[in-house]
Amino acid sequence: MGADNPKIFLRRTKKYGQGVYAREPIKKGEVVAVYDGPFYDNEFDGWTPDLLGHTIQCGKALWRDSKGVARYVNHSCDPNCGIKGRFKIKAMRDIAAGEQITWDYEMTEKSWWWRMRCRCGSSICRKVIGTYSNMPQSIRRKYKGFISTWLTQKT
Ligand SMILES: [Zn+2]
Repeated sequence: MGADNPKIFLRRTKKYGQGVYAREPIKKGEVVAVYDGPFYDNEFDGWTPDLLGHTIQCGKALWRDSKGVARYVNHSCDPNCGIKGRFKIKAMRDIAAGEQITWDYEMTEKSWWWRMRCRCGSSICRKVIGTYSNMPQSIRRKYKGFISTWLTQKT
């Protein structure tokens, strides 16, 4: 679909509604899915729970949706993907067929009002997710090169 990698597909997960999975192996460094849809700012008056839950933050008061399945990729505190630039979900390591695609939402998110209780089940789960400001330094180092450039580059 659009700019998304053809090796992924959407299906229901056991715990979290929809999720995105690898249909075949994906190599470290491959772009997996892309936020290529409309932009919304904080003055937009049509925010819905669906948009709040599925857009990616790409500026101080700017979010973007996807045309394809990027919007359904779930969070994990031990993810197999990260963010390239501001809009691309990119594999941080090799991903096996059947694995769920995940990234860490704090790689893009920095708001004082959005928080999510995490049940990703990872042994390094941070329990409450919501803002890059709270991301530990050790995790930032681990994600180097995979954190949205809106957070890492001074404009
Ligand atoms: Zn977690």
